[in-house]
Amino acid sequence: MLEANIKAQLAQYLELMEGDVHLKVSVGEDKVSREMASLVDELATMSTHIKVELVDLERTPSFTVNRPGEETGITFAGVPLGHEFTSLVLALLQVSGRAPKVDDKVIEQVKNIKDTLHFDSYISLSCQNCPEVVQALNLMSVLNPNITHTMIDGAAFKEEVESKNILAVPTVYLNDEPFSNGRKTIEEILAELGNGPDASEFEDKEPFDVLVVGGGPAGASAAIYAARKGIRTGIVADRFGGQILDTAAIENFISVNHTEGPKLAASLEEHVKEYNIDIMNLQRAKRLEKKDFTRLNWKTVQF
Ligand SMILES: Cc1cc2nc3c(=O)[nH]c(=O)nc-3n(C[C@H](O)[C@H](O)[C@H](O)COP(=O)(O)OP(=O)(O)OC[C@H]3O[C@@H](n4cnc5c(N)ncnc54)[C@H](O)[C@@H]3O)c2cc1C
Repeated sequence: MLEANIKAQLAQYLELMEGDVHLKVSVGEDKVSREMASLVDELATMSTHIKVELVDLERTPSFTVNRPGEETGITFAGVPLGHEFTSLVLALLQVSGRAPKVDDKVIEQVKNIKDTLHFDSYISLSCQNCPEVVQALNLMSVLNPNITHTMIDGAAFKEEVESKNILAVPTVYLNDEPFSNGRKTIEEILAELGNGPDASEFEDKEPFDVLVVGGGPAGASAAIYAARKGIRTGIVADRFGGQILDTAAIENFISVNHTEGPKLAASLEEHVKEYNIDIMNLQRAKRLEKKDFTRLNWKTVQF
């Protein structure tokens, strides 16, 4: 079922698996079920770490990705190909024991969640903003036994999508209630859950010479210009990257024929980090107070 070049790439990734993974698969007679059965069988032939078992799950066709004898709570309802193929590969690797490339602080925040959280993410396989959300929620499920996540391909579950009146993807439900729409990083999801960085962490910071509010392209360039003059610079951003995080293709950035928003946002962040700029992400400035006309004091920005 997989094309030869994808299969070759997949084979390389599967070699990175560190332990066994059990796929529990619920399939019927329909076309999507046949595709799913063929995909999981192909995966099992490609790695001795992957075992497949037929079961009945809440949704058919769907499959769960588990450690032997331990449910992780990751379910793919629909065939995770197209843009979700990477989500499948990462789920296999992370469930097998491979460490995720995420900040230790974020991992700690996820592990500390005590509530029982079940996420349903409605996606389409052609959506470029969906994989980040799916991968974040899968990773949260891998890290914390209280968290479970089902990715639902809207094309395979049309009735469910219509009954919930879902008009855009990704749309995420938490414990059956609407939770979020659009692209979200794991840090943003944590912040929405109330587990993001606490503004009190910043209280003891020394005053900045320049504190930029907003972390889009404009804020990033302002901060770089300031820091290049050797002055103490910070950025307060409720979402570092700004609107370009939601942009698929950018073709009017002169000298760059084509790029993608998230890629450009990642380059912006890399560029900002070249300098001694303190990025305070996922924080919203509530008020600016002008206390001293010669110097905007850090203490005058309220969170
Ligand atoms: C879907 C889409 C496609 C686009 N495509 C293109 C394109 O192809 N080419 C192009 O040139 N432009 C495009 N744009 C427009 C482009 O993204 C914007 O012009 C650009 O991002 C503006 O940069 P900015 O830094 O001024 O503002 P923004 O990108 O809006 O960044 C400002 C940031 O500051 C944050 N912020 C605001 N108030 C506070 C506060 N009080 N505290 C903390 N943070 C705060 C905001 O949340 C935001 O993250 C597109 C925009 C969208 C949404």
